[in-house]
Amino acid sequence: MSVLTHQTISHLAAEHGFSAAYCFMPETEDHAPEEVRTLVLLTRAYAPGGWLVDHFYPCSNAAYHQAKRMGERLAAEYGLRVWSLGNLRLKPMCRRLSAFGTGLNTLNYLPEIGSRFCMELLGLSEPIEPTPMIPYSRELLPCAECKRCMTACPTGAITEAGFIKERCIRFHMMNGKPMPEDMRPFIGASNGAKGILGCDLCQRACPANARSEKEYDTADDFTLVELLTCEKEALSRVSDLYGKNYAIRNRILAQAILAAAHAEGELGDQLEALKASPSPAVAEHAAWVLGKMKK
Ligand code: SF4
Ligand code: SF4
Repeated sequence: MSVLTHQTISHLAAEHGFSAAYCFMPETEDHAPEEVRTLVLLTRAYAPGGWLVDHFYPCSNAAYHQAKRMGERLAAEYGLRVWSLGNLRLKPMCRRLSAFGTGLNTLNYLPEIGSRFCMELLGLSEPIEPTPMIPYSRELLPCAECKRCMTACPTGAITEAGFIKERCIRFHMMNGKPMPEDMRPFIGASNGAKGILGCDLCQRACPANARSEKEYDTADDFTLVELLTCEKEALSRVSDLYGKNYAIRNRILAQAILAAAHAEGELGDQLEALKASPSPAVAEHAAWVLGKMKK
């Protein structure tokens, strides 16, 4: 057994900006590398909000970088092998950890924080005693009699029979393809999905998020015009704030165009120019929004 304890891991996690750390044994279904003896699930809470980009994304990107730093520190100070495993499926792990609840909307919940947190995962080459956990109280998540997330979802992704990924607006955002037409009106609409990235309607409706909902703030890191232009400087900031996977010009443009349908101000000339884009998603979205504006 290493000198490292779950308490030490929790202290280190707090130093790297995480709300909590949970050490537990890997299971085959986790698909961690064979040499991993302990998994460390790190959570980081955030205040909800954003009109263009959901506040989850900067939190998640910061957590990714901080988890890497924490892993490097663990390797250097304790002589362990450490793997960054945030790409594994974390939701099934949460379902077997008693500290977490799972909502009808398929999201993971923690007391106090609700569903407003992001997660990272480290694998360690040493066994560590698991973190003791206080079981999540079912009373905090009254799904059986609530169903508010199901009603709040505008596209019918949450059903009694389960979650339909293809009906979730988020699934179709920033994927480089034209968005299904019936979902486009919700992009950037008040009480709709975000303009560029994220849709949190099923979280906003949830009584378990009532506390964080009071902190809701629509502020964004970018203006819509900056994203509709999407110059090099803006792309570089997108990469720094949300991660380089999101800094893809045509994908941002395709989304920003749909958000422009709900924006104030004259954006018609910019949209006309984008109608001639070689990207099918950009051109199709521009033509669709212009068609709506003319009606
Ligand atoms: S909104 Fe209601 S049904 Fe949906 S996850 Fe929250 S408590 Fe459960
Ligand atoms: S993220 Fe939006 S579209 Fe997806 S399930 Fe939740 S409310 Fe529905």
